Amino acid sequence: MNYESFFRAQLDGLRREGRYRVFADIERRAGDYPKAIRHRNGRTSEVTVWCSNDYLGMGQHPKVLAAMHAALDRYGAGAGGTRNISGTNHEHVLLERALATLHGTEDALLFNSGYMSNWASLSTLASRMPGCVIVSDEMNHASMIEGMRHSRAQRRMFRHNDVADLERVLAELDPACPKLVAFESVYSMDGDIAPIAAICDVADKYGAMTYCDEVHGVGLYGAHGGGITDRDGVSHRLTVIEGTLAKAFGVIGGYIAGSNAMCDFVRSFASGFIFSTALPPAVAAGARASIEHLMVSNAERERLHERAATLRKRLDAIGVPHLDNPSHIVPVMVGDPVVCKSISDILLDEHGVYVQPINYPTVPRGTERLRITPGPVHSDADMDHLVASLHAVWSQFSLRRAA
Ligand code: PLP
Repeated sequence: MNYESFFRAQLDGLRREGRYRVFADIERRAGDYPKAIRHRNGRTSEVTVWCSNDYLGMGQHPKVLAAMHAALDRYGAGAGGTRNISGTNHEHVLLERALATLHGTEDALLFNSGYMSNWASLSTLASRMPGCVIVSDEMNHASMIEGMRHSRAQRRMFRHNDVADLERVLAELDPACPKLVAFESVYSMDGDIAPIAAICDVADKYGAMTYCDEVHGVGLYGAHGGGITDRDGVSHRLTVIEGTLAKAFGVIGGYIAGSNAMCDFVRSFASGFIFSTALPPAVAAGARASIEHLMVSNAERERLHERAATLRKRLDAIGVPHLDNPSHIVPVMVGDPVVCKSISDILLDEHGVYVQPINYPTVPRGTERLRITPGPVHSDADMDHLVASLHAVWSQFSLRRAA
């Protein structure tokens, strides 16, 4: 077999479908974000980032940077080992305590990313519990799907955010078998929010555990930034709350929070936890500074939600169609992969507006979109420029306007 031609043919297929991924090469500028320098063909230009998951700009917050600088000088660069073999730095222990406090749980367990925490925790919980059936929302994230698949446990799906359908599936299962209901709080592509209390009610009725991915909720919702579970006062009802340190908290890393026994179980059996070098201590210190700040400061959250509401109103005024949802995510719908990529290219090349196109398999075919994430870092002038640029591009492509 000619391996090189195989690789090229597969990539050509992606290009034909208009979903070959091209990464914008940017330098985010600490202190000046959402401005960034873009590198292209040996030249540079300034762009404004409108598609980052650093939702609150915590990646440049002075407290976070100071904590990271201090920890780097104190502990050095890497952790030096897995958590079990010399890699547990006191910063990891403090961070896990802060996460447990954030969610009001007994304990928390750190992973190197949110992806790893989903993959390792779901696969461990479901594979180690004999006969466990996972009942999964049909829109769950790739990292959850991979974890569930890897567990080899039986998996049943329920219709997205549909509690009646969840109950139908649970009612069909053997009452004696262990069950795990897996879902997200804020779905990152459509920006809709799960009815968590109602899901917990049904799960309780059928004796099921609950696993909630709060990756797009933590830091952003609730009086202390504990996510939708915090906002809705239901944190104590979940078996597992999973989150990331890479989005609203602006650093990197993932975690689960829950009871001592559950965290200890995953800590003791999850290969993806045990056999990977721990996060650099400076990363843990930065993440903790970010969490501790957002637990007491509501200013960033309030401004985030104001910015999202303002952008929606401005898009309505020019008829650029966007999905209506109750979250901070503003998906501007295009519905064609090639057009979506072209619009994104023109916004970036000609207007200095960076919004990455979102295509299949991240979203279903025919629902290609520009996923805009306005935040406290975006000024009124930034928003004026974004709206004028979208208006111009919509006219240039004669795209459908909303009524
Ligand atoms: N869960 C959801 C719902 C996500 O959207 C993502 C990433 O985008 C992850 C988990 C993975 O988190 P991380 O980026 O920290 O690996």
